Amino acid sequence: MRPFGTTIFAEMSALAVRTGAVNLGQGFPDTDGPPEMLAAAAEALRSGRNQYPPGPGIPELRAAVAAHQQRFWGLEYDPDGEVVVTAGATEAVAAAILALCEPGDEVVCFEPYYDSYAASIALAGAVRRPVTLRPGPDGRYAFDPAALRAAFGPRTRLVLVNSPHNPTGKVFTPAELSLIAELCQEHGTYAVTDEVYEHLVFADAASGHVPLAALPGMRHRTLRISSAGKTFSCTGWKVGWASGPAALVSALLRVKQFLTFVNAAPLQPAVAVALALPDAYFTDLEAGMRARRDQLVGGLADAGFDVLTPEGTYFVTVDVTALGGSDGVEFCRSLPERCGVVAVPTQVFYDDPEAGRRLVRFAFCKRPEVLAEAVSRLRN
Ligand code: PMP
Ligand code: GLN
Repeated sequence: MRPFGTTIFAEMSALAVRTGAVNLGQGFPDTDGPPEMLAAAAEALRSGRNQYPPGPGIPELRAAVAAHQQRFWGLEYDPDGEVVVTAGATEAVAAAILALCEPGDEVVCFEPYYDSYAASIALAGAVRRPVTLRPGPDGRYAFDPAALRAAFGPRTRLVLVNSPHNPTGKVFTPAELSLIAELCQEHGTYAVTDEVYEHLVFADAASGHVPLAALPGMRHRTLRISSAGKTFSCTGWKVGWASGPAALVSALLRVKQFLTFVNAAPLQPAVAVALALPDAYFTDLEAGMRARRDQLVGGLADAGFDVLTPEGTYFVTVDVTALGGSDGVEFCRSLPERCGVVAVPTQVFYDDPEAGRRLVRFAFCKRPEVLAEAVSRLRN
């Protein structure tokens, strides 16, 4: 693990605290999630649900996870055996990779990738095979299908797909997902999907959210991962889950039991309450976040940035070239001093730093007045 220093999120949040800058770096909301969920957590704490929960998670949360996936995506999972609760999506991704990969196995992923992927692949002794997402003339990030095809080979064990995608805000299209599915079937590869932003696909995106597991031939080879952090604005709770065929879920659980054993006893019943909230909660979440996206995208464009408008997540990336920047890391290190705003250089999420050299990510999961202040500082 020596090559893995402090995460960029920790570095940039510490910089924000030190300089008093507006923190649009690390992605976490500055308002709380649904009151019904918070009340259920308080009640669970008071009523003594404070000891180890069952290994796979409490039955009511596993049932709620299964019902939620059936309600929104038409996916059927048996809460007994096909769903496991984890310490956030982070643990689910790590346990999935550790469970499925032998040393030397290859993991196809898309760069820029969420930082924990590289670390989890390294912990498993596996090798990452990144395929680069590049902004096209239409402002959307895409990969070269030939490059994806070339990344698959005899040692490919699994493909890791994050859609909606952090940090680019890309929503993988049905055609892109179909190609991934075709290659998985051709090569006998598993898929691990990170869908933590499943409810943050904007209404004006070219396509809605499509779980890879919903494609023909994919359910039995896919571990589908999500978490409460983004959907219910509780990133500090670290309650996530994985769903898939029983064989893959039990393999993941075998690893999870020795990473954390179990987690978040009093928070699990509260997340079960949140997952059962009416559809309006989920549509309001999207509409509210879309308004913030439009506010920040507009503000960044006014300030002179070349903005790549996201179709999902709560992140937007910009190219700093138009503002005279040539390196995102330098740009982000000096931004707090220059104007009191923190952003994250996405260069650190690429194996090929050149591909992301000039790209910087801003988070817009903040109150409108906070976004307005950041925009005004940037414009000045
Ligand atoms: N995957 C992606 C793509 C993320 O952006 C994040 C960040 N929160 C996570 C996983 C981690 O989720 P959790 O906090 O549930 O572990
Ligand atoms: N997922 C959040 C982000 O991308 C941060 C998570 C973390 O700090 N590890 O900003």
